[in-house]
Amino acid sequence: MPEMTCIVCPVGCRMTVKVTGTAVEVTGNGCRRGLEYARQEAIAPQRVLTAVVAVAGAEQPLPVKTARPIPKEKLFAAMAEVKTLRPQPPIRIGQVLKEDLAGTGVALVAAKNF
Ligand code: SF4
Repeated sequence: MPEMTCIVCPVGCRMTVKVTGTAVEVTGNGCRRGLEYARQEAIAPQRVLTAVVAVAGAEQPLPVKTARPIPKEKLFAAMAEVKTLRPQPPIRIGQVLKEDLAGTGVALVAAKNF
């Protein structure tokens, strides 16, 4: 049975995950959030993508992130789209820079004012 460390909070519970068909059995989690994290990781892992993009007319890059986690398998396609962006300042934190990044249904947003 695969083991994983929960990264949802600093406690870092060590969990064991057993997948049988569509059923996911989790042990070692200290709370329900860890259970949900382990189930998601076992079935369809997701990550928040963080990156920087070049800003038109600026030397400093802009930190960006996805508004929500996206499927791990889409990270490379998402990065390919991120590299094509050249937003124009002024940019507000949380401003959507790209809707539906890599067909995930999740937006890419600015992580700071620029
Ligand atoms: S299972 Fe709950 S208590 Fe344990 S690390 Fe995850 S979120 Fe924290």
